[in-house]
Amino acid sequence: MISKTDQPARVRFAPSPTGHTHLGSGRTALYDYLLARQTGGQFILRIEDSDQKRYVEGAEQELMDSLRWLGLEWDEGPDKGGPYGPYRQSERKEIYQQYAWELVERGSAYPCFCSADRLAELRQEQQSRRETGRYDGRCRRIPPAEAAARVADGEPHVIRFKMPHEGSITVNDYVRGEITVENANLDDYILVRSDGLALYHLAAMVDDHLMKISHVIRGSEWLPTFPLHVHILRALGLQEPVFVHLSVFLKPSGKGKMSKRETAALMQDGYSIFIKDLKELGYTPEGVLNWIALMGWSYDDHTEFFTLADLVDKFSLERLNPAPAAINFTKLDHFNGLHIRSLSDEEIARRVQPFFEIAGYATSQDKLLRIAPLIRERMVTLDDAVPMAGFFFKDQVMPAAQELVGKNMTPAESLRAVQRTYHLLAGLRDFSHESAEGPLRELADELGIKAGQLFGILRVAVTGQIVSPPLLESMAILGRDVVLDRLQVAARMLEDNIES
Ligand code: GLU
Repeated sequence: MISKTDQPARVRFAPSPTGHTHLGSGRTALYDYLLARQTGGQFILRIEDSDQKRYVEGAEQELMDSLRWLGLEWDEGPDKGGPYGPYRQSERKEIYQQYAWELVERGSAYPCFCSADRLAELRQEQQSRRETGRYDGRCRRIPPAEAAARVADGEPHVIRFKMPHEGSITVNDYVRGEITVENANLDDYILVRSDGLALYHLAAMVDDHLMKISHVIRGSEWLPTFPLHVHILRALGLQEPVFVHLSVFLKPSGKGKMSKRETAALMQDGYSIFIKDLKELGYTPEGVLNWIALMGWSYDDHTEFFTLADLVDKFSLERLNPAPAAINFTKLDHFNGLHIRSLSDEEIARRVQPFFEIAGYATSQDKLLRIAPLIRERMVTLDDAVPMAGFFFKDQVMPAAQELVGKNMTPAESLRAVQRTYHLLAGLRDFSHESAEGPLRELADELGIKAGQLFGILRVAVTGQIVSPPLLESMAILGRDVVLDRLQVAARMLEDNIES
């Protein structure tokens, strides 16, 4: 078994570009990356795009963007090449053909000429007898020379694996251990379709061999055909990589997998299982990585904060857990908040800026850098910065007149408090948090109100919000002119309120 100190691992992430990149893919890629980096090996990106019917335009780009956003850079791949390319299966068609015919020559595969109609009929008969649908082996009995002649004549055919009828096969999954299956329960699976394109079963095994892959880390949806894969490798006399099948993700309730409808509905709650959405929702790559790393793996029973560098250091295949993992978005929020708080102010300023832009605010890095310490503790997602700190970038704030009235105070008393504050701040020698605090507290005393009552009114007047980052620090960032302007507007609103 391979562990940290062993040989450099060659690991591939082999997604099919059939839709949005989801967290399951992110997790597989992460584990691939960790094993490669930890052993000083290579992380390879291979695009499994041989099924043209399921191909989705743009999906490959999204995959690459998502991996790069997460910080999982590959060493070899379709965009950067490498010694074992091409790295897109659609460009490797001839290679699979060659291996398919080698299997035929070795007596482990055969061309099948059955029409789609015949197969449909067969399936129906089997269904009516309540049997599992499988190929009945008719073309398996055609003498090889005759079959070869029919193929040479151009007769449409697929290539099927000639599954032994007797005996059993024992395969080894790194996480689950040995699994033994009766060959009689396996089918004569199709390896190459009638259009000449190889299916995953053959293509992936051939590629893993030619690309010198040492560990195949993939989803557990491949467990049912895992015995077929090992049959193929053995029939070709190829070395078997270490197979690692990861746990499945269940919906947050833990009951079953997420449906398409549930996935779409999630966005309304500000969550998603797609990496690109998580980015747009204000999650950080650090938070997402930490979260997915722990869906199916643990370091011990208490450590939960990991950076990518920590994970490279601490990850081990031994601690993978095969039990299905329920997706827990509360944990995502938790990790995201932790990672935001561990970023520098510069980094927070840089990362929140695009969210302000999307919301239509013109910001500056200078100002954001001063705001970052005021909001960092409160943010769960990066876009939280906008409702928290948008008032810094507005020309005017529009408080509701009612909110300008202090707690247990009349509008007239509140107006007086605003006016007195205006004069106090206008007359300060310098305008800072420290210079304003003492005099404002004294003012509250003089007015016979609590400091909290006064600050409550000022908060609404200056920020337009009932809840805001620390008030005095915020006022210092806004600057005296803006604060005085806003106090004046507030005073006017209170006056109107009293008159009407
Ligand atoms: N193309 C397969 C998928 O996306 C890859 C499985 C594997 O990693 O071998 O499910």
